[in-house]
Amino acid sequence: MLVVMRHGAAPSEIERVVRTIEEMGYEARPMPGAQRTAVGLVGNDGRVDASRIEALPGVAQVIHVTQPYKQVSREWRPEDTIVTLAPGVRVGGPEVVIIAGPCSVESEEQIVTAAHQVRAAGAVALRGGAFKPRTSPYSFQGLGERGLELLAVARAETGLPIVTEAMDEAGAHLVAEVADCIQIGARNMQNYSLLRTVGRLGKPVLLKRGMAATVSDLLLAAEYILAEGNSQVILCERGVRSFDPAVRNMFDLTAIPIVHKLSHLPIIADPSHGTGLRDQVTPMARAAVAAGADGILVEVHPTPDRALSDGAQSLYPGQFAELVGELRPIVSAIGRTLTPVPARPAGTEPVAVGYG
Ligand code: PEP
Ligand code: MN
Repeated sequence: MLVVMRHGAAPSEIERVVRTIEEMGYEARPMPGAQRTAVGLVGNDGRVDASRIEALPGVAQVIHVTQPYKQVSREWRPEDTIVTLAPGVRVGGPEVVIIAGPCSVESEEQIVTAAHQVRAAGAVALRGGAFKPRTSPYSFQGLGERGLELLAVARAETGLPIVTEAMDEAGAHLVAEVADCIQIGARNMQNYSLLRTVGRLGKPVLLKRGMAATVSDLLLAAEYILAEGNSQVILCERGVRSFDPAVRNMFDLTAIPIVHKLSHLPIIADPSHGTGLRDQVTPMARAAVAAGADGILVEVHPTPDRALSDGAQSLYPGQFAELVGELRPIVSAIGRTLTPVPARPAGTEPVAVGYG
């Protein structure tokens, strides 16, 4: 339930609403907005008798949120949420962000080279898995903590904020120490204890759609994170399982405008896992941005043929640079801009990047 205060309601009136909600045994979340303050009532498992609150001074309206997800819904918060990954890198506003890098961190040379290459082409954040959820236990599982150290080296050299996956609670604490954004992968979208953990870590979260999850499942998963007090959540469409072996996953473009309609959270698109095919990544990235995605997450590897994971869907750095060039006119046609690349860290020299 959401209590919308009158424009210009006095702080004492807001305080009284908060106290009343607490007296009724629920939690109150005041949310100051540009136009008016709202106070969210959380912790109710059914319909709350609103008459006591409606009668309080300064209250304009009480809204019963009809969706099963509450804090994630547009009813709860009409304005778009903007998630800040680093100074100047905001997801969910008028800018479109490009996050790129290899599937996995493999070595210092590989991740630092990839970071320089994607930055030179226009990426504003670096992706790369240190903890890898692999379908087979015999596949490369990631470098673990060493991978996190190497990501920190790549950030120090390029200034790009880091997005990397956490697979379990212990890993989430380690990832939170290094990363600028914690990725929750498709296979863990419904790992509710992990969602609660990242809801408490105070870092932005990139939540990927599960491979058999409906849009509603995705939004309810996000609700777990917001319910713990963290609203810095970016959703990610990465394709769902289908009957058709022509592609690895079926990339659900419609999810992008649907999520924008139902929720205030930003949504980005991952055409790499969404298709599994290098030559399909660029057309689907273009389509996702045209459909209103707040950014794209793309796998790029300095030498995809030698990648330890997801080489077949990883772009060559030169292809990625071309993709960024193709996104510019699309972004401007829909009245948006690409987020400018963050400044190089103080004391670092420009690095010449070849796309051989
Ligand atoms: C990844 O981003 O490398 C990954 C494992 O993605 P997903 O969880 O979407 O399969
Ligand atoms: Mn991958």
